[in-house]
Amino acid sequence: MALRTIRKQGDPILTKKCRPIKEMTPKIRELIFDMMETMYDAYGVGLAAPQVGILKRLVVIDVGDGPIVLINPEIIETDGEQTGDEGCLSVPGMAGQVTRPNYVKVRALDQNMEEVELEGTELLARAFCHELDHLDGKMYTELVEGDLHKVEYEEE
Ligand code: ZN
Repeated sequence: MALRTIRKQGDPILTKKCRPIKEMTPKIRELIFDMMETMYDAYGVGLAAPQVGILKRLVVIDVGDGPIVLINPEIIETDGEQTGDEGCLSVPGMAGQVTRPNYVKVRALDQNMEEVELEGTELLARAFCHELDHLDGKMYTELVEGDLHKVEYEEE
């Protein structure tokens, strides 16, 4: 396992559309482990493959309830609305207000390439939307209402 370099906003790879994953390979498995490690190392709650320079439809998420791996994910249902601060590991130290659905249902393949359906509300729903947007080359900064603001990190 290894940490991967997180691409920052302005890197053209973050604006590209990702390709579906057709089969699990040792390389993809390694990518999943590396993305998890990279996400936890950066204290993120989600990371999409293009953020580490790989144009594949793969995201990892952990909002505090354990790791989630989503391969070729799609949103199949949404409900409600939430407005709140959102940030991105590709835009370090910044946050901005974004309105997202408050409930999101996702269909994807898991790390065993088996179909799963996952539901999320609040932060998890926001993470689903944010990370899936990355797979289509979209950044949350396009959706921010008002201005981005700096985030103060608390010392541990
Ligand atoms: Zn992001």
